[in-house]
Amino acid sequence: MKILVTGGAGFIGSHLVESLLKDGHQVTVVDDLSTGSKGNLAGLLSNENLCFEEESLLNYKKMLKYITECDCIYHLAAAVGVKYIIEHPLDSLITNVRGTEIVFELAQIFEKKVFFASSSEVYGKDGTIPFKETDARILGGVELSRWGYAFSKGFDEFLAKAYFKSKGLKVVIGRLFNVCGQRQSPHYGMVIPRFVRQALANEPISVYGDGEQIRAFMHVYDAVDAIKRLMEEPLAEGEVVNVGSNEPVKIADLARKVKDISASSSELSFVPYHEVYEHDFEDMFYRVPDISKIKELTGFTPQYNLDQILKMIIEDYRSV
Ligand code: UDP
Repeated sequence: MKILVTGGAGFIGSHLVESLLKDGHQVTVVDDLSTGSKGNLAGLLSNENLCFEEESLLNYKKMLKYITECDCIYHLAAAVGVKYIIEHPLDSLITNVRGTEIVFELAQIFEKKVFFASSSEVYGKDGTIPFKETDARILGGVELSRWGYAFSKGFDEFLAKAYFKSKGLKVVIGRLFNVCGQRQSPHYGMVIPRFVRQALANEPISVYGDGEQIRAFMHVYDAVDAIKRLMEEPLAEGEVVNVGSNEPVKIADLARKVKDISASSSELSFVPYHEVYEHDFEDMFYRVPDISKIKELTGFTPQYNLDQILKMIIEDYRSV
């Protein structure tokens, strides 16, 4: 097939592209390199089945061309990382709202199936534990730019559902939880690459807040597997589906694990949120998915547990 991947030069996108090429597809990547990089595709750029276009989703004419030429679309392009979103609130919202609207509109006109990468941010700050796709959400106030991202991804989900119901767009909505692995940059605030870099340099490991907040981390290989399965499953069309791991860990314990596995002499350093993010920053205390829906629909369960994931990432950092 001819497959369009928006955000294909990003961390998750580049792993997806690699996997689709291995499956024998022709892939076009559209990426404006705002947070992605060509380096993420190094080794693939010479592949004759890959076409890389440095372009914005907002270029309607170009998107029209790419979408008419492809068979289906993985739409992953979006701002990445809480830190980046707080520092670039306008770009983040415009990409998520206007960019996604262009993708859905053209996909519907030309009858192309879309996988849409949503985010576990949409669950907000006070959910029922673990997060289920049908849960109601409480998001923070308008003064805190972090929550704009959740609103925009939530809007995209409603838009996808509406296109599905009203216009028959074949669209699958994956709510991605914390994904990690090779090539994830520490620059946008993501915790694992930051902890690993700090531990390997024997620098203090920066735990934000009291470290009691809980996350579940999925390896990017599992994320790619899950995304492809969802795209291939007709029963997933029009559905919102959690994509994540259900192995919870407190962030302070994560820091201790990274320290132990890397045999680092780093100390844990507890940093108040306001020193890193905006004033009055609100973290999500708990972010762990219920993954029964994806399992029922596609048979998917994560293959890598947290210890394996950390070992792989630490080894990779060492080799680089
Ligand atoms: N975090 C931390 N130290 C860091 C970076 C992040 O303690 O150097 C915390 C962050 O406050 C959050 C968790 O780790 O509670 C996961 O952060 P990340 O940005 O990776 O993902 P998200 O907050 O989007 O789940």
